[in-house]
Amino acid sequence: MGTGRVREPQELKILRERIRKADTIGISGHINPDGDCIGSCLALCTYLRENYPDKTVDVFLEPVNKRFLFLKYASDIIHQETADQSGLKGIVYDVFFSLDCSETDRLGFALDYFNEASFRVCVDHHITNKGFGDLMFIRPGASSTAEILFTMMKYDRISHACAESLYLGIIHDTGVFRHTNTSRQTMETAGALLDKGVAQDRIIDETFYRKTYVQNQLLGRALMESILVMDGRVIFTVISRRDMAFYGVDKSDLDGVIDQLRVTEGVEVALLLTEKDDQLYKVSMRSNEYVDVSSIALSFGGGGHVRAAGCTVHGGFRDVINSITAQIEVQMKDLV
Ligand code: 5GP
Ligand code: MN
Repeated sequence: MGTGRVREPQELKILRERIRKADTIGISGHINPDGDCIGSCLALCTYLRENYPDKTVDVFLEPVNKRFLFLKYASDIIHQETADQSGLKGIVYDVFFSLDCSETDRLGFALDYFNEASFRVCVDHHITNKGFGDLMFIRPGASSTAEILFTMMKYDRISHACAESLYLGIIHDTGVFRHTNTSRQTMETAGALLDKGVAQDRIIDETFYRKTYVQNQLLGRALMESILVMDGRVIFTVISRRDMAFYGVDKSDLDGVIDQLRVTEGVEVALLLTEKDDQLYKVSMRSNEYVDVSSIALSFGGGGHVRAAGCTVHGGFRDVINSITAQIEVQMKDLV
């Protein structure tokens, strides 16, 4: 815990030394950034800018949903277009952080900066992360990357703004402390962040539960058109590009759809297929008790956690569903 007097592990000493010597520090997270990814990147940016004001700290991410823009330094996030136009291309960062990314490819346009950097740090909690970079903080037992970052920061140097970003990361990856990844450590971390004056009600309502009118409409439609298979143990729904265009939404507006599918009575696995292109689907998977969806995602070149994972699969949606349910069936058979 950042609050405790625990002896600092060797990796943290190395990291602090690297940061102390660095002039330029880059930070990035995964493509299609979610709350934990955005919260983690901005929390680390805030921590470094506030505690090391003489250093240049840049954050690279794909565009973020507007509900996250209240976080400190969100407006400073560098997107691909700005990076390409502003002559940042080719810059060699002294230290570069990959946050919440299970593999380097998931860094998207920031991968070049990461690869070129003098010292590369990987902070992540995905079970499918095999490890990359010069220094790694990979903790599959942590609820979120934000929870790991908290252990790497000095508690008395965490400002209110930094605490807000960390708190946001935790609530998004735990579904507001509902998922099984929520541990005692998660709750203690959240408690320590509340002591920093985090406005928990506002953050939880405004960034997690609040939906726009069209988001609710799409959620309603996704639920109405959902289909139960495997004797009601699996539920799936498909959202086409036409649906997305009709409602004028993007993929970040789909947060929450899979969570609602997952809590359908009797369901073990929920699947959300989002059409990305002809015969190409992004698949989100959630399980409740038995099925390891990370291994299924991994078999399709994706990744994630035991109870929440994703991948992108070629084929018609029926074929995609069939090949995934075949794997679920094998895992469920092992139960008896
Ligand atoms: P979601 O279904 O919300 O997109 O993702 C669930 C979890 O799986 C997240 O932790 C996310 O990072 C991971 N994930 C989703 N899609 C992919 C993918 O295509 N590749 C990898 N490696 N991880 C993914
Ligand atoms: Mn995460």
